[in-house]
Amino acid sequence: MARERSRTRAYIPWWLWVIVLISGLWYGLRYYQSVREGTLSPALPVRVSPGTSLAVRGKDVAIVSGHLGYDSGALCENGLAEVDVVRTIVDQLARLLRNAGARVIVLKEKDPRLQGLRADVLVSVHADSCIEASGFKVARWGKSPHPRRDDRLVECLTREYASLTGLTFVRLHITEDMTDYHVFSKISEDTPAAIIETGYLGGDKHLLTRKSHLVALGIAEGIGCFFKEEPQ
Ligand SMILES: [Zn+2]
Repeated sequence: MARERSRTRAYIPWWLWVIVLISGLWYGLRYYQSVREGTLSPALPVRVSPGTSLAVRGKDVAIVSGHLGYDSGALCENGLAEVDVVRTIVDQLARLLRNAGARVIVLKEKDPRLQGLRADVLVSVHADSCIEASGFKVARWGKSPHPRRDDRLVECLTREYASLTGLTFVRLHITEDMTDYHVFSKISEDTPAAIIETGYLGGDKHLLTRKSHLVALGIAEGIGCFFKEEPQ
């Protein structure tokens, strides 16, 4: 037995072992780099086309790209501006939703189309200040005429976003800026709506800028969850 095994090994030339070893190391290094750069997420190894299974087909989805066309939003010393970070996230979010069959409109912060807007859902996307803190927030209108419906949207966004990004939901930091957000009182009361602060430009910079695909997917899955669990 032992002799047979050693004979088999002798048929594989030494240089073949070296080639196998080097290519193994090379692919391992490439994989590690792509995970670090955020171009490949270890959390999503089997999803060939992320988002296509979202339950949003035929739905009208309105996305407000925070601060777009109005101001920069939070502006950090390193030059990072909330409006740009959010724009990148919203572009990816819109693509994901469209790929899954939704009709998507992307709106500016003070878009005139917000007045009386009717859609199956509206989500306004923002990012938080430049401080070295971490966490995200989701809120609905404090005076919503349909609090249970909008709470369901907030719950879906919170659950899915936390699970995809790993960020903590910081309920305590929700301010009146969010619950009394100007968009809520402009749109039709038939439109379920929420605002999400996707993370801090300081402490969550890596996620927001290098892994924005996960941020977008987290919001998209939250919207999908809202339609999936819609009462008939
Ligand atoms: Zn903002």
